[in-house]
Amino acid sequence: MTQVEAYRQIVEARAGGACEYCRLLQAATGVTFHIEHFVPRSRGGLTVMSNLVLSCPGCNLSKADRASGEDQSGVTQSLFNPRDYEPSILGWHLHFSLDGDTGIISPRTSIGEATVNTLRINDPNRVFARKLQIFVGLIA
Ligand SMILES: [Zn+2]
Repeated sequence: MTQVEAYRQIVEARAGGACEYCRLLQAATGVTFHIEHFVPRSRGGLTVMSNLVLSCPGCNLSKADRASGEDQSGVTQSLFNPRDYEPSILGWHLHFSLDGDTGIISPRTSIGEATVNTLRINDPNRVFARKLQIFVGLIA
């Protein structure tokens, strides 16, 4: 077991089994989500609970080794860090809103804008999966 995998059970439980960026539910995707380092290891990020995030592969692969991105004005902003909020879902609602009909996530803040853009949160595949999960009542 790799060092980060030792944290999987508790990171998944803390996240309620959902991607902490785009809210897809791991159990309903058939895919094992990533235990992501918010501050990438390549930039000195540690494998500690305060730096780990449950992320679907789409969000994590888009985020790559970044902790910042551009908002809609092209200004560099920090990405949404779920660990800045307790519980993280409150922070999520501060920076994003979810349209229950379309599955589209809209940013409420410049941090939200940078995160939606950088993580490609409204990639058609993720929007489709999110819409299905909303339809069957897995995401409210
Ligand atoms: Zn995601």
